[in-house]
Amino acid sequence: MKMSDNTPIIIQGLTVSKGIILGQCKLLQHGQSDYRKEKINSNQVPRELKRLDSTKRKSLVELKKIKNKLKPNVRKNIGMFLDTHIMLINDKNFTRNVKKNIKDKLLCADWAIYEEYLSIKSSFDGMRDLYIKQRIEDINHIVKLLLKNLKKNQKSVGTGLSSLGGFIVVTDDLSPADVLVAHQTKCVALISEFGGRSSHSSILSRGLEIPSIVGVKNALSTLKNDDEVILDGNHGIIIINPDQEAKRYYRRLQRDDISKKKKLSLIMNKDCFSSDNQRIEIMANLELPQEMKILTKKKFDGIGLFRTEYLYTDRTDFPTEAEQVAGYKKIVQKMRDKPVVFRTLDIGADKEIPENIKSGSIARNPALGLRGIRYSLNNQKIFLNQVKAILRAGYYGNVKIMLPMITTLSEIIHAKNLIELAKEHLRKRKLKFSNSVDVGIMVEVPSCAVLSSKFAEHVDFLSIGTNDLVQYTLAIDRVDDEVNYLYDPYNNAVLNLIKNVIESGIKQKIQVSLCGEMAGDIQFTRLLLGMGLKSFSMHPSAIPEVKEIILKTDIRSLEKLSSRIINCVDSKEKHELIKKLNQMTKR
Ligand code: PEP
Ligand code: MG
Repeated sequence: MKMSDNTPIIIQGLTVSKGIILGQCKLLQHGQSDYRKEKINSNQVPRELKRLDSTKRKSLVELKKIKNKLKPNVRKNIGMFLDTHIMLINDKNFTRNVKKNIKDKLLCADWAIYEEYLSIKSSFDGMRDLYIKQRIEDINHIVKLLLKNLKKNQKSVGTGLSSLGGFIVVTDDLSPADVLVAHQTKCVALISEFGGRSSHSSILSRGLEIPSIVGVKNALSTLKNDDEVILDGNHGIIIINPDQEAKRYYRRLQRDDISKKKKLSLIMNKDCFSSDNQRIEIMANLELPQEMKILTKKKFDGIGLFRTEYLYTDRTDFPTEAEQVAGYKKIVQKMRDKPVVFRTLDIGADKEIPENIKSGSIARNPALGLRGIRYSLNNQKIFLNQVKAILRAGYYGNVKIMLPMITTLSEIIHAKNLIELAKEHLRKRKLKFSNSVDVGIMVEVPSCAVLSSKFAEHVDFLSIGTNDLVQYTLAIDRVDDEVNYLYDPYNNAVLNLIKNVIESGIKQKIQVSLCGEMAGDIQFTRLLLGMGLKSFSMHPSAIPEVKEIILKTDIRSLEKLSSRIINCVDSKEKHELIKKLNQMTKR
């Protein structure tokens, strides 16, 4: 919708990185639709081949420049995103086919590149596999860069963004390189027409704390340069030409955010005890080592979930044992004696699978395929390598190993045997390592939740992964928009499974933690406390709010109501009871 006057317009997208920004926007279109489409004569072929070489060189220099400008603490991990693009530009097949288009079809270099892009894209069309989508996105980004650099006097992606410091940048699509340049040049927020929460670019916006909204259809045709905009990254809302009332409202929210943060920072120095003096453990979930810096001002009890996939993705080879030891050791040393729970590789389903790891055919239903521990047990060398690295890092602090996607007892036994084998190898190599690392499992498959009392006899801790547990219990793809309305953690089946796992842990006297998104969502805090949960692991930014509620809660007083909620199948009544439970915290 386009309005000629200054009537406020509200558009909605997908929230990717939180924060409220009031500012002016600048449009940046990388579009491919305006590429040159010229037939050439055979005597122009050498010129076009030269243009192709030159744009490749220019694009590589540009990407390498961006990479070199990265601060050392982020260069290693974030630089890997750029390495994927560098690798694609250097891809021999891609170059050979583009050259063929120039020589045989007599297409100018621009058209030849675009033709090759269309041909790659069409061979993958119709596939729903997230990995394929991600690769096509990467190819899309490098094609845009190559086409842009082919045009005379055309600013490149990076330089386009570099003049946009202080603005909210609106674009069709964001490459990881764009997000990095936006960060370096201090763009205040990002809006893009395409993208999803799990894309590289979204992960980066979150990691670098740039408020961002993606999936905003027609953003480029709805917004104009210099439009005044309110970007509400907490709810995925964009208000164009906001009136005074909206501005006042959002400025107040911004001020509230700041004062709330200040207020919460005061309670962050305290240990987490409920008002009836029960000690509740608050742990952090991390995906990238650089997120550690967000944790510095927060008092917390350790890292309850370290997703190790970052080490494996966006590269062409496997991380070596030494490389992994170095990465894990840094984290462990920073945490001193606090525990760090390393989850072994959990690729598959909604987590993209890198080129180096992809094996076999593309799964028809990846969420039910060779993912998590299944992949590790099928690729023992990779698993052993990772376990050895975790054990070696354990020498420098307090580490635990967590196995994802456990479905059967034999998987636990098999994995534990391999962990012992890894220790044996390390002993033979006379390397320092921790011999007493706790081994636990993620409870995220219904079979595991149902049988948790049996499985608990074989492990040192349980951690409930509700993101997947909800998906598998209710048979809902957690990344499918169309069935999102059915994704309900309050479902009685889910709540009963959670309760069962908590009781299994109590019976077996082992720790039960919850590390799914529910742990950081304050609408569930009191219900989980009432169900007996004593350990929460969440995204670092959620820690203060959850902790605030716990400090004010008398847990014993919640038990009866929580038990009624778990067993109440009348949705209306259940939600009234939940409201009542949560109101008991209100000051
Ligand atoms: C979960 O499934 O709840 C979980 C924490 O793991 P992930 O989100 O990485 O699948
Ligand atoms: Mg999971």
